[in-house]
Amino acid sequence: MSSIATDLAEALSTVRRPGAFFVAGTEEMRAPGLAVEGIGPIALPLLPVQAEQLIAAAERAPYGRGADTLTDVTVRRTWQIRAERVRIEGKHWPATLQAIVTRIAEGLGVTDPVEADLYKLLVYDKGSFFLPHRDTEKAAGMFATLVLALPSVSEGGELIVRHRDQEARLPLTSDDPSDVAFAAFYADCVHEVLPVNAGYRLVLIYNLLRRGPGRLPEAPDYDSEREAVATLLKNWAEAPRSPEDAEPEKIVLPLEHAYTPAELGFATLKGADAGIAQVVVAAARHAGCEVHLALVSIEESGIAEYTGGYFRSHRRWSGDEDDEDDAFEIVEVSERAVSAAHWRRPDGDPSPLTVIPVEEDEFSPPEAFDDLEPDEQHFHEATGNEGASFERTYSRAALILWPRDRLLAVINQGGLKVTLPFLEDLADRWAAGGDASVWDQAHDLSGHMISAWPVDQWQPYQDKERTSAGRVLHLLVRLGDAARLEAMLTAIAACHGFDNGDCSDIVEALCHLPPERAASLAKHLVEETAEVALDACGNLLARASAVDPAVVTGAARALVAALPGDPSRASSQPPWRRGPGVRPEFIADLFTALGRIDAALAGVAADHILEWPRTYDFDTILVPAVLTLLATPDTGGLAAVRRLRVACAAHLDGRIALPLEAPRDWRRDNTLGCGCKHCRALGLYLDDPTQKIWVFRAVEADRSHVEGTIRTAHCDLDTTTERRSRPYSLICTKNQASYERRRVQRERDLADRERLDA
Ligand SMILES: [Zn+2]
Repeated sequence: MSSIATDLAEALSTVRRPGAFFVAGTEEMRAPGLAVEGIGPIALPLLPVQAEQLIAAAERAPYGRGADTLTDVTVRRTWQIRAERVRIEGKHWPATLQAIVTRIAEGLGVTDPVEADLYKLLVYDKGSFFLPHRDTEKAAGMFATLVLALPSVSEGGELIVRHRDQEARLPLTSDDPSDVAFAAFYADCVHEVLPVNAGYRLVLIYNLLRRGPGRLPEAPDYDSEREAVATLLKNWAEAPRSPEDAEPEKIVLPLEHAYTPAELGFATLKGADAGIAQVVVAAARHAGCEVHLALVSIEESGIAEYTGGYFRSHRRWSGDEDDEDDAFEIVEVSERAVSAAHWRRPDGDPSPLTVIPVEEDEFSPPEAFDDLEPDEQHFHEATGNEGASFERTYSRAALILWPRDRLLAVINQGGLKVTLPFLEDLADRWAAGGDASVWDQAHDLSGHMISAWPVDQWQPYQDKERTSAGRVLHLLVRLGDAARLEAMLTAIAACHGFDNGDCSDIVEALCHLPPERAASLAKHLVEETAEVALDACGNLLARASAVDPAVVTGAARALVAALPGDPSRASSQPPWRRGPGVRPEFIADLFTALGRIDAALAGVAADHILEWPRTYDFDTILVPAVLTLLATPDTGGLAAVRRLRVACAAHLDGRIALPLEAPRDWRRDNTLGCGCKHCRALGLYLDDPTQKIWVFRAVEADRSHVEGTIRTAHCDLDTTTERRSRPYSLICTKNQASYERRRVQRERDLADRERLDA
């Protein structure tokens, strides 16, 4: 069956060697000894004073036209010194030059030995340039030109190299003064040097010669492949899409050589990979497709089988333990995940793409990843119920293509992990003055993200950190996209919950909407989420009311109506989604907000809270909350808070009035929940004012039953087990634990009472 994946691989099958018409880069260099006849040694990096000396000793560089050699500063303006007057030497120089020549030969795809022959030294000063031209053949065997820029400081002067309809713009500079920058290109390439704007550039020009017989190397010509690939891509990109469409969303073309993440880049591709990349990049541009480089990795795991001990023991004996894996055989791959990461763009700019899943039908050719050697493979022997298993990983560099207008669909394959960083990048670019297309792209992408929002997956985390929902709101606020902010707030409401960490982003989002829309969304949000995200709702109202109380009036009514307490009101949520119950922070937030919004509504809330003391416990919730509220001038004077304060004071006063004294004898409270014969004996001991210790000698089951009863009833008893003879004995000793607890409670009550009055 014909498909884009098979056709594309077929069209590229004839590209067998690097297709570069140029090679450029930098190479580390130990400073060579450079000397010019009539001047002497030249220091590197080049000093302005020596640049002037060189210019004084140089002549205007001519250019060739046909058989003639002409000098015209409107065509070429630069200074030259002929090779006979230049000496470059030093212990390390030959190795540096050889390393550069080797890289060039590889990049240009030349397998014969290549020799670099110094032709001249050029000095470019401010205003120097060279209009587009082709080099004339200056020596037998010359097939390319090498430009080697020695360390010098200059601006502008980029080298432009063209071959057919392709163009490379090479800066010929290095940030590091110990690097030499170089560029080489086939002799038939048209090239030009743009004007140097400042400083001086010092370059050595070499003729690159191929010694030996046969046709001289030429820039490879993959025109027919490029055309075929462009046509395939264009048809694929322009074909209408439908849900039952069999065509893949993107195409993954594996490369031949191995690359680490650090090595991966369009400029550093090896051998035929460079040729294929060049063809694909050019074709994709014509076909409206985007190309990236990425590392594709495959992770597999499944069932293995142990295939025999003989080989294993044999290998053990030979000491080659690494081969033990050979004693296993893979039976079945049960899980397989393919993804692409480490994205590189053809222009070398950083890519915001992170990890994107790869579908099996996206490989070109379809069997591209079938016979790979795994990078890592581990077998695990059978243990207990588990049979023998294996896991292995493969990785391979690939070119990945998609139609430009399908970008968002491709990104969406990766879910929030991919879309969020991408949206972040778009927001950054928009903030940095990006054009309307950046905003449009962000608008489209956020639309995809919100419509696919995982509304049924929210769980209460109580996080202080902003979650994905908060991050999206934050980015939409930065983009000023009111329509998407509304949609995102609606999606959060549909989750029936949100986190504390997102409250400030929600408030910011509300501020970006017309007040009426903000008010209705805030109310909707609280109605939908109050049951599971009570804390977050209180937090939201406290923050929002500080900005504009009117916007959250409806939301506040909804929250008060949803206050928990009444046990007859059924919950609509499964237990795992319910929050941790009421916390003092919520009560403080609630009255802080209500104080700003509506004092009467605060009164309604106080009534409700005092009506359900099981939900709003005085000691753990109300007293700490009221103390916080009293400490704030805004809320301390609120009538509802004063009523809560009075109730708290009465609760504390009631307990303070209870008698508090240490037990006078050994009688202890008997609140045992069991009436079995052992527990009855325990009860008699508790009631006895003279018996301090009770020894219960019994089998383990009875001892632990009695111990459990003691624990449940919080008896004032210490227990230990004496293991001298069987059956062992449980030894109980009476203590004053409950009196101690009451004493500590009394101290706290007195302190709290004092703070309530302060
Ligand atoms: Zn019992």
